[in-house]
Amino acid sequence: MSQTEQRIGMLGGTFDPVHLGHLRSAVELHEALSLDRLHMIPAQQPPLRGQPQVSARQRLELLKSGIGDTPGLVADDRELRRDGPSYSADTLAELRAEYGGRARLVMAIGFDAFLRLTQWHQPERLFELAHLVVIARPGYGDALPASLTELVEHRRVDSVEALMQRPYGSYLALELPSLMAISATYIRECLEAGKSVRYLLPDPVDQAIEQGGLYR
Ligand code: ATP
Repeated sequence: MSQTEQRIGMLGGTFDPVHLGHLRSAVELHEALSLDRLHMIPAQQPPLRGQPQVSARQRLELLKSGIGDTPGLVADDRELRRDGPSYSADTLAELRAEYGGRARLVMAIGFDAFLRLTQWHQPERLFELAHLVVIARPGYGDALPASLTELVEHRRVDSVEALMQRPYGSYLALELPSLMAISATYIRECLEAGKSVRYLLPDPVDQAIEQGGLYR
């Protein structure tokens, strides 16, 4: 029965650096979908943006200190162990192989990333491997481009229960309770300008950035 199948989530990103928007969303997503585990996966070389200033290993270490001992969240370094660009379809294929064909596999992305989904590598293939859950971020009410509507509309479901009926292939737009307008871009801007980033990041991440002299 679908209720007994494992529910596995993936939240990929640059995490440059990880912040409370990511982490609070991850916790709320874990609860909203009753996930067994949420893999937070830093990209080695994000295909659609420039090279981050801080190394992939450093971003992973910051992510680990941000997660700490939060139940159900794991910092997963699999994309850092692969060469070349980090394609989500390849990552999902690995997770699918590990968890088996019946697991409910969910790729979660924020609305800003969702708007660029049609530019991703093999977007159709993502739905052969996982469900797509789009997390609201500021601006999420905006109309979708026609190409994106064409990709997702026939896959749309309106509840977590409907999503979990099948192992992959559906799309759900989800408004989590805490809509946080925190972005890594803003944090990097603050750090470059020598401004405080307190309360935007977990303290251990703030301290590690400070001690490492990162993003200056
Ligand atoms: P940047 O500002 O550098 O583009 P970011 O803050 O958007 O970074 P990413 O590492 O690109 O962070 O995000 C990873 C994933 O987390 C993406 O799917 C993104 O949409 C989502 N995300 C980022 N910030 C938030 C937030 N505040 N609330 C919900 N989801 C978020």
